[in-house]
Amino acid sequence: MSVLEHIDPVIYRLINQEQAMQSDCIRLIPSENYVSKAVMEASASCLTNRYAEGYPGKRYYEGQHFTDQIETVARERARQLFKVDHVNVQPYSGSVANMAAYAALIEPGDTIMGMSLAHGGHLTHGWKVSLTSKFFKAVYYTLDPATGLIDYDLAERLAKEHRPRLIVCGATAYPRIIDFEAFGRIAKQVGAYLVADIAHIAGLVVGGVHPSPVPHADIVSTTTHKTLRGPRGGMLMCKAEHATKVDRAVFPGLQGGPHMHTISAIAVALKEAATADFARYARQIVSNCKAMAEALLERGFNLVSGGTDNHLILIDLRNKGIPGKKLARALDRAGIISNYNTVPNDPAPPMNPNGLRIGTPAITTRGMKEPQARQIALWIHRVAEGIDNESVIESVRKEVKELCAQFPVPEVFVNP
Ligand SMILES: *Cc1c(COP(=O)(O)O)cnc(C)c1O
Repeated sequence: MSVLEHIDPVIYRLINQEQAMQSDCIRLIPSENYVSKAVMEASASCLTNRYAEGYPGKRYYEGQHFTDQIETVARERARQLFKVDHVNVQPYSGSVANMAAYAALIEPGDTIMGMSLAHGGHLTHGWKVSLTSKFFKAVYYTLDPATGLIDYDLAERLAKEHRPRLIVCGATAYPRIIDFEAFGRIAKQVGAYLVADIAHIAGLVVGGVHPSPVPHADIVSTTTHKTLRGPRGGMLMCKAEHATKVDRAVFPGLQGGPHMHTISAIAVALKEAATADFARYARQIVSNCKAMAEALLERGFNLVSGGTDNHLILIDLRNKGIPGKKLARALDRAGIISNYNTVPNDPAPPMNPNGLRIGTPAITTRGMKEPQARQIALWIHRVAEGIDNESVIESVRKEVKELCAQFPVPEVFVNP
């Protein structure tokens, strides 16, 4: 019997049930992944016991012999991997990292320009319900309705008109390559800072399947737990000239003690990300996603922008007449986990939008390849066709379980 099972059988059981679900379902949420056993071990280590306010060599607590070394290793690995001057590995998450990036460069009341949430941007890019829109005036660029691609001309026009002090590029639901160079040019023209948020695509950047924003952005912000496949956390990367401002914005600006257990696990994930295996994984994510997109197109699904260059697909369900939430729920019953999402210019309310967002990082980590990606697309088609037929959904569920059994996930807890 494990200690956890003995001390807290309720939580033990729930964690095991979650583990079993992660193992026998197909997880298509594009921001999710499976970390390695090594990353999990580091993040569950004794470092959770520590306080280490400050930075290596400049802490406000004693006993930092090992925490200093751990944070230094993490920073150095990220510096080399992303080829960037300075790295801060302390942000608790991507959202806090973005807030710290803004706090480092601009003042409350200044104007920022980001991508509209409804077109794939993130809440923290100045969206109405986010604190970022209370602290800053926000202007939004959108997709070109004809192509489904970012409208760079519109972004340039809006930048000239509104003169933002900071432009944030990067997305949470955009299936194409982002032209960071174009954003760098636009920012320069209007004298704005550029923040590139690569929360979703950091692993693709490291793996060489998406261009890096590092040469073009003042600050690059990322999560560590999406395609980068580390523990839940955030990082900020910047040019040397912004290093002090960035560090001060994170601590003491926004945060207290860094989560050293997370930072140790980030270091492990960065070591893994520097391998040839990881580059193969990044390439396979994109190949799997393209295979899935093709199979969906063959079955009459409309995809925003007509396809994908990266790890995610945004299905516009309007021609199928099925609301996104209804399909997402039916897929969940079939063992395929996705999320409903707005599509650009969606007339439906955000709580019941017409899109479905899916992605391939987690299935790729499990070792699935193009044939499995195509098979999953066919299951999505079958569930959509049989949306009100529970026996169809049940038969897909059975096949999903059989496939999952062939592609084991990293085990952490022991299944009962
Ligand atoms: C996920 C995401 C974030 C936020 O990360 P959290 O760790 O959930 O706070 C920020 N920006 C983008 C583009 C994201 O996709």
